[in-house]
Amino acid sequence: MSTSSINGWCLSSISTASSSVRRAALRPNSVVCAALNAISSSSSSFPPLIQDRPVIAQPSQIITPTLPLSEEMGKEYEEAIEELQRLLREKGELKATAAEKVGQITASLGTASSSGGIATSDEASERIKAGFIHFKKEKYDKNPALYGELAKGQAPKFMVFACSDSRVCPSHVLDFQPGEAFVVRNVANMVPPYDQAKYAGAGSAIEYAVNFLKVSEIVVIGHSACGGIKGLLSFNFDEPNTTDFIEEWVKIGIPAKSKVKSQYGDAPFAEQCFHCEKEAVNVSLGNLLTYPFVREGLVNNTLKLKGGYYDFVKGSFELWGLQFGLSSSFSV
Ligand SMILES: [Zn+2]
Repeated sequence: MSTSSINGWCLSSISTASSSVRRAALRPNSVVCAALNAISSSSSSFPPLIQDRPVIAQPSQIITPTLPLSEEMGKEYEEAIEELQRLLREKGELKATAAEKVGQITASLGTASSSGGIATSDEASERIKAGFIHFKKEKYDKNPALYGELAKGQAPKFMVFACSDSRVCPSHVLDFQPGEAFVVRNVANMVPPYDQAKYAGAGSAIEYAVNFLKVSEIVVIGHSACGGIKGLLSFNFDEPNTTDFIEEWVKIGIPAKSKVKSQYGDAPFAEQCFHCEKEAVNVSLGNLLTYPFVREGLVNNTLKLKGGYYDFVKGSFELWGLQFGLSSSFSV
């Protein structure tokens, strides 16, 4: 299994610079794209939904001077209004027609801005482009040795489970550099128990990290004000599910909920959440033991499990390890 075969595809859209028609397309990223181009030129072409060219080109080709453009557009608007007013001063009989036309334009613009967010989509694309340009200039281009090595493969020391919460990106919070951490993010940073049918996503990530990448540390990181943990504590699991996926997923943490309810059941809800955010990490560490290759790594002392807790309100981080005692062998 190669890295590129896992990471090589992304969902993207064609930029306005290349097409006036926006459409989503499943396509390879720019790195893999080059390799695929070489293959496709001599063999089969791409399926219709797959584009064989990068959406994000080199920075020099996609930097657009948005401020001067906006100013220019502003001038054009002012000039257009002045011209209309001058025309209406000269030909007052056109005022009724002009009012009708302006009404149509206003309604049309209002519909466009509220219906699908064309402008918002452009802003999102610009933000993504700007982010990549910054990364490329400030990091990628300045670390050719690192990215040269990573082009050959990865050998991360850490596997990290973290919440999907937008505030807790582990690479940001722990300053992991590219190639340092193999990361799985999901709602409430849960590690489900070994279940080939139900949890193949998490299982495949753990298997790949342990058996193929040979990570030496698995860290499960909980965090403050976790929405998934609030859900775990709030949902009534005796009733039918009210969500398509969320309840079924956070159910993984029910043992943590039970423990917190028994020990802190009288405490305010926020305090229960705080305790449950940590207990759920311990449940996940326990679930890791249901994976035979994890157990094997622990027994052979090639793998360690750690729990972490990031409090973004206080700006603190806790780390703890779990000791799994093995009874010594004996004979009678
Ligand atoms: Zn969370």
